[in-house]
Amino acid sequence: MKKKYDVIIVGSGPAGLGAAFHLVDKGAASILMIDKSRISTGGLRNDCKQNYTYPVGFPENLWTADQATSYLDLVSDHLKPVIEKHTNIDLYLKRAQRLGVSLLEIDQCHVGTDRARLLIEDLTSKLTKQGVDICLETEALEIDRDKKHITLTGETETIAYTDCILAPGRSGALWLQRIMHNCDVPYTDNVVDIGVRVETREQHYPIVKDYYDPKFLFPYNVRTFCTNSGAAYVVREKYDQYYSVNGHSFSKDKKPNGLVNFAMLNTIRLTDPVVSGHQFAAILGQMAMQLSGGMPMMQRIGDFRLGKRSKKESFNDDLYDFQATLTSATPGDIGLAMPAKILRGIWRSMKLLDTIIPGILHPSTIMYYPEIKTYGNRPRFIDEHFKVSENLYMIGDGAGTSRGITAAWASGIRAAQGITGSR
Ligand SMILES: Cc1cc2nc3c(=O)[nH]c(=O)nc-3n(C[C@H](O)[C@H](O)[C@H](O)COP(=O)(O)OP(=O)(O)OC[C@H]3O[C@@H](n4cnc5c(N)ncnc54)[C@H](O)[C@@H]3O)c2cc1C
Repeated sequence: MKKKYDVIIVGSGPAGLGAAFHLVDKGAASILMIDKSRISTGGLRNDCKQNYTYPVGFPENLWTADQATSYLDLVSDHLKPVIEKHTNIDLYLKRAQRLGVSLLEIDQCHVGTDRARLLIEDLTSKLTKQGVDICLETEALEIDRDKKHITLTGETETIAYTDCILAPGRSGALWLQRIMHNCDVPYTDNVVDIGVRVETREQHYPIVKDYYDPKFLFPYNVRTFCTNSGAAYVVREKYDQYYSVNGHSFSKDKKPNGLVNFAMLNTIRLTDPVVSGHQFAAILGQMAMQLSGGMPMMQRIGDFRLGKRSKKESFNDDLYDFQATLTSATPGDIGLAMPAKILRGIWRSMKLLDTIIPGILHPSTIMYYPEIKTYGNRPRFIDEHFKVSENLYMIGDGAGTSRGITAAWASGIRAAQGITGSR
């Protein structure tokens, strides 16, 4: 590691990579990219579904459709997506329309958890060959925005920069919040997605054969999100005070397990006095943990409809005919843990979905709770390149400029253009 770089990038997720490739393409002299992990930790590594249609992943108040579309062309130059085909979509569209539900038709590519690792290795090795210093397992601790220094773990001296891009993702959102506070950058944080992850047999959600990740938008601010099939699993992710569930699947190289999972999320915008999405998420996450012995909760639809909790002894019997893939989840009663208003919107949406694709409300279907998506604290940007103060840029999911891989990569390009003065 040198003592000074033209640009230091914190985070090697898609936002950081998008910035690094653009800087290299424009001939920036010296670049350091650091990551506290051994490999980037977000969605580029997990499942890696890349969405190429606005507004999926793009916060609409920061991106216009034309702008996002032109950046998506630049993103695909590097990620070279193979877009999944949609078939028989008209039937679903017609049924959805009749019920006041929208089905977004989007261009998407699915890499899969196993192949995503190879993609990341390929991208980082290209950067290394072009002279970018990449330091993994190195954490950024502090930024001195006046002296333009960064303090890293394992380094006795600070490293100087001309420009610095912070792209720490959702896992680094609280660190970024501290940096904003220390650097006097004002920020807001008020949106959070709360919901369940649904797991069922593929035969009960056959649309996935026609459309890999169908995006339904229901009334009541509810949407389907992140559908996985093939070799598909529900997983848990650790946050400070709770576990959230999530889902992923492997590439088509792996043997299918006959299951599908997807999230049903309700977007909540908070107003005074609880204005923090993170705070609300922590309250609900802890409540769920208290009720289910510190683990996520799961309930069969058959039990939910009868107003009964699910129990261990009845969890795999008769009509409850497949094993949950998240075996550590505790059978319980989601109605006790989720606020009524959120639950009502999700349940109504699931009934609409079952009318469009009959089967999803089979008694065996499992709902896991909580699935929580918090978003970064959004700083006040002082230009269109996500600059927050002289020579300091904040981008990606951690800074609220994206909600997905491709938009994060596009954010990186936008910040790099601010530094190089390019278009
Ligand atoms: C399990 C999972 C699955 C997902 N699946 C998808 C998907 O299929 N499709 C999709 O579009 N989106 C998906 N997402 C969302 C996706 O991860 C994000 O939208 C995207 O990765 C954001 O990119 P980013 O570069 O902002 O952050 P990230 O990809 O999260 O990268 C940030 C990096 O910064 C590092 N970091 C954080 N703090 C520091 C620090 N202080 N010092 C050094 N390094 C630091 C982290 O280790 C991390 O590697 C998924 C997210 C998760 C968690």
